[in-house]
Amino acid sequence: MDTNLPVSSQPRVVIVGCGFGGLRLAKSLRDAPVQVVVIDRNNYHNFQPLLYQVATGALEADSIAYPIRKIFAGQKNFFYRMADVQRVDTAANTVHTSVGDIRYDYLVLATGSLTNFFGIESLEKNAMQIKSIPNALNLRSFIFQNFEKALLTENPEEKQALMNIVVVGGGPTGVEISGSLAEMRKHVLPKDYPELDLSKMQIILVEAGAELLGPMSVKSQQDAMRYMQELGVKVVLNTHIKGYENCRAYYSDTEFIPTENLIWAAGVNGAAVPGIPEELVARNKRINVNQWNQVPGLSNVFAIGDVANMVTDDMPKGLPMLAPVAQQQADLLGDNLQRLIKGQPPVPFVYKNKGVMAIVSRNKAVVDLPKDVHFNGIFGWFTWLFVHLMTLVGFRNKVVAFVDWAFSYFSSDQALRLIIRPFSRRDVKDDQGKKKAEHATSTPEYNPTPPAIQVK
Ligand SMILES: Cc1cc2nc3c(=O)[nH]c(=O)nc-3n(C[C@H](O)[C@H](O)[C@H](O)COP(=O)(O)OP(=O)(O)OC[C@H]3O[C@@H](n4cnc5c(N)ncnc54)[C@H](O)[C@@H]3O)c2cc1C
Repeated sequence: MDTNLPVSSQPRVVIVGCGFGGLRLAKSLRDAPVQVVVIDRNNYHNFQPLLYQVATGALEADSIAYPIRKIFAGQKNFFYRMADVQRVDTAANTVHTSVGDIRYDYLVLATGSLTNFFGIESLEKNAMQIKSIPNALNLRSFIFQNFEKALLTENPEEKQALMNIVVVGGGPTGVEISGSLAEMRKHVLPKDYPELDLSKMQIILVEAGAELLGPMSVKSQQDAMRYMQELGVKVVLNTHIKGYENCRAYYSDTEFIPTENLIWAAGVNGAAVPGIPEELVARNKRINVNQWNQVPGLSNVFAIGDVANMVTDDMPKGLPMLAPVAQQQADLLGDNLQRLIKGQPPVPFVYKNKGVMAIVSRNKAVVDLPKDVHFNGIFGWFTWLFVHLMTLVGFRNKVVAFVDWAFSYFSSDQALRLIIRPFSRRDVKDDQGKKKAEHATSTPEYNPTPPAIQVK
């Protein structure tokens, strides 16, 4: 297939992925003497930090996504192809995509990350994840579908499993989604399901480590734990979920939590593209890069953001997978590519940590800033809202998100609980669109005398 890209006398920079890194890089090359070709399998930029709000009905999907072509309208050196990059041929300076081959002079991989199920097949098949907008919409539908089913069943064990929600992973995503679900249990579900005894609904947050929000300060970890207790989320620490089958989330060979709703937020791997030599890909599937994001030994291939494994003296496991890392690397690489084209030496990357934050629920958030500055509560919550509102792409998205948040705040309600496209686990697909689940597990054989929920 011909990708119909115009021939140019200028060098072609191909950017794979229009997430936080790819978007910023393509923008920074607006006035550079290069042809910019962006390839992404989705025709929109996805603001991942707010996916969990789509999953819990707090925000519309449209307010956290923005069409790529609209972002770059008017940028004359910009070309976009909606395609899946299947392989890179570094010897031929070509990427093989689902719509044909594309040649490059410079290649930048900004493909982000994929959910890491640690090789546990039952989790990969049956757990819900939140890495994409379809994932978030599926999750929203699935939770409400299960509440509709809970109304119908006479079997108490089945009813309990349909109402239980297990969130695995006590990082920011797990904490944020658990808090949001607890708000939903308090404010939304009693209005919609007065026939159900919601005091029996359990939200259980399972974390393998000894604390929540592992990479944040001890104060933030303690605040998060306190907030979870106030919201009635059961936190289970030092516990691994080892498998998930027939609506049982196993934490040992025989002990399990019965649940139809298991949300996997326990980790991600880099989304390395096939064709990059294996010895350049770290165990967590991130591509090794030097201090100017160049892949060692491949002088015209670069990686930025989550997929780039940049090891520094103070971060021996690689820089964190965070949006600001991707954006700062993109800004510098934009400059460095222009320096390379002019024959000038590139400048090394230095990460400027501007702080990390996590929201738990209304008026509850934790914020860690450099120099050990920490704050929480309503001030943290406003800071979180403000930062996320300002970083959303597009004026319309900012307005829609603001209106949705204001409506929820003043009404204690969430408008978005439509089951628009009923979801079955048969439909679970990975980010490449390949089918994952081959069987639905929504009609498990319930144990007539199941063990009590034995969460420690
Ligand atoms: C639920 C959730 C919450 C988060 N919360 C926060 C937060 O609060 N703060 C924070 O800083 N970070 C947060 N993150 C992490 C942050 O979103 C990532 O660090 C950031 O998105 C990385 O940017 P990136 O450009 O490397 O990749 P991404 O933004 O993931 O973009 C990758 C792009 O590449 C495309 N792509 C991938 N492979 C291919 C392929 N083979 N062919 C074509 N296209 C491809 C994808 O469609 C995507 O558009 C969160 C992540 C998630 C999932």
